[in-house]
Amino acid sequence: MTTPPRPWPPTGGPPPGPSGPLGGPPPGLSGPPGLTPPGAGPPGPRPGFGDLWRLLRGHGRLITFATTLTAFGTVIGLAQPLLVRAVIDAARAGGVPVLLIVVLVAVFLVEAAVDTWGHYLLECTGQRVLLGLRRRLIGHLLRLRIRVFDAERIGDLLSRSNADTTVVRDAVAYSLTTFVTSVIGVLAAIGLMVWLSPVLFGLVLVAVVVAGAIVLTALARVRAVSEQGQASIGRMTADLERALTAIRTVRASNAEERETERIGGHADDAYRAGLRMARLSAVIAPATQLAVQGSVLVVLLAGGVLVARGTTSLGDLVAFLLYATYLVMPLSQLIESAQTIQRGLGALTRVNVVFTMPPEEEPAPAGPVTQVRTLASVGNGASVGDGAAATPALEFRGVWFSYVERPVLRGLSFTVPARGQVALVGPSGAGKSTVLGLIERFYEPDAGEILVHGVPLGCSERAQTRRQVNLVEQDAPVLSGSLRDNLAYACPDATDAEIAEVVDIARLTAVVRRLPAGLDTDVGDHGVLLSGGERQRVAVARALLARPTLLLLDEPTSQMDAVNEHALTRVMADIAARRALLVIAHRISTVRASDLIVVLDEGSVVATGRHEELLRTSPDYARLAAVGLDRTA
Ligand code: ATP
Repeated sequence: MTTPPRPWPPTGGPPPGPSGPLGGPPPGLSGPPGLTPPGAGPPGPRPGFGDLWRLLRGHGRLITFATTLTAFGTVIGLAQPLLVRAVIDAARAGGVPVLLIVVLVAVFLVEAAVDTWGHYLLECTGQRVLLGLRRRLIGHLLRLRIRVFDAERIGDLLSRSNADTTVVRDAVAYSLTTFVTSVIGVLAAIGLMVWLSPVLFGLVLVAVVVAGAIVLTALARVRAVSEQGQASIGRMTADLERALTAIRTVRASNAEERETERIGGHADDAYRAGLRMARLSAVIAPATQLAVQGSVLVVLLAGGVLVARGTTSLGDLVAFLLYATYLVMPLSQLIESAQTIQRGLGALTRVNVVFTMPPEEEPAPAGPVTQVRTLASVGNGASVGDGAAATPALEFRGVWFSYVERPVLRGLSFTVPARGQVALVGPSGAGKSTVLGLIERFYEPDAGEILVHGVPLGCSERAQTRRQVNLVEQDAPVLSGSLRDNLAYACPDATDAEIAEVVDIARLTAVVRRLPAGLDTDVGDHGVLLSGGERQRVAVARALLARPTLLLLDEPTSQMDAVNEHALTRVMADIAARRALLVIAHRISTVRASDLIVVLDEGSVVATGRHEELLRTSPDYARLAAVGLDRTA
């Protein structure tokens, strides 16, 4: 049985479609998972302070040590005013406290060394947190269900894994610990100030409370503004990625101006969010500054009077003033880290959305799988009655499938024998590529069963299925990198001799000879240095190198000239003599060479047979053969 897909996103889903043989899957069977438009709002609770802490899991010892060091540095720093007071009071008494001065200098140097070490360790922790987060994100992104990529924008996913993770790192690595050490510094400075002079502290408190009220109001807005800014950057990256990956279409359509406007619009949004953030920072920074200057002035004025009256010693006043200035540093750090934490929470919200996207799941381990007996023909399906092998390479049994609501496959059944070439033909949109996508397990059927070599797909691991089955996609993707990397992509351990063999089979020998560094030539982004036909042959060679037992080809000759098409047809005949080949065909030469032709229309098999037989018996096929099959020839 196939595993019904888990709904994603968790809430919502499509309205129930009509049921029955044409309107939808049989009653009682699950429909497709719901999809929301790209950039849908984040499901689930918004992350909080605790979620940032949790990112530090696994780095506990390092972060504790680094925090202890910086806290130790802060405490050492707090001892300095008391030492200064002792030096001043000793000097007033008439002596030169050399020892105290030496201790003061030593304390200063130790504080500097401890701070430097602590900050280096914090930096290391930040990089490790970033690395861990990015690796988890990359692993998750590459395992997401294909449905997710149908709904999301690649550029936005890229932005979440680059820009957003960096913001999260700043919040986690520096701000959380700075927050903690600043709190220690602020509380200790306050305690010592109260101890030295409660009256002067009361005056400082007034200035701090006024500034604090302004700062807290501004801080409350920082997270929302940061989220808006990051989302605009995400949209900008997505649109830029869209335009750059289709740069030739953009140029050919004279769309540079429109794209510049469109992408620039998102940059404008990011700019406006940046300005809002600047306004908030502009309020926060001077408020902090004013609180500091105000307190120092107040302390100087009131403290001067107290010293003049003899109620406070000069040493006490200097020490108090130093604490007032010492308060500034942790206080402004506290405010800055609160700001960064708010921004980090905004970015973490966006990163966490990716983790809520469902990955491909493996079926629950079942008992030992028994090979299912061959069914020569199921429902409206067909098989090649040549007795080539007992177990067919592939069986579709009453498969229903919808991408969103409308069923694309409607109770589809057909069989591909263990050896031989089967052609899938049908009008555009009939569901041919969808059939290949289901065999590769990019999607799960809503109902029915697909068996590869007699084993239901739901009973084996995806990796196992993908070792047996290899797909050459319609647009024959070639990755940036060398030709060798591309050929050996599914089979990285392939030897030179094996590579040379598939190069020969796919008629790439002349291409390799022409390239400046042969197999090691870089083929450019998406293989732009190769022609369309060459890319198709590279894709075929890559699939052959993996030695699948069932090879799926989606219009493999669509971009080939007559010579290469003829050659590939011969190659396909060779492959079909040894293994199963299912090919989506639009060219009459491919179709004629097939042992069986399965004619699809609107997700169902409407006819099966060989070319001449179908020309006589199937009006659908005769129509296709007359106008459609050679459309790409
Ligand atoms: P062609 O010969 O033009 O390549 P096809 O027979 O291979 O067509 P499919 O690509 O399987 O047809 O598409 C079948 C139907 O499913 C079409 O109506 C198409 O619009 C729809 N479809 C295909 N892919 C998706 C997708 N990822 N999300 C939603 N609908 C899709």
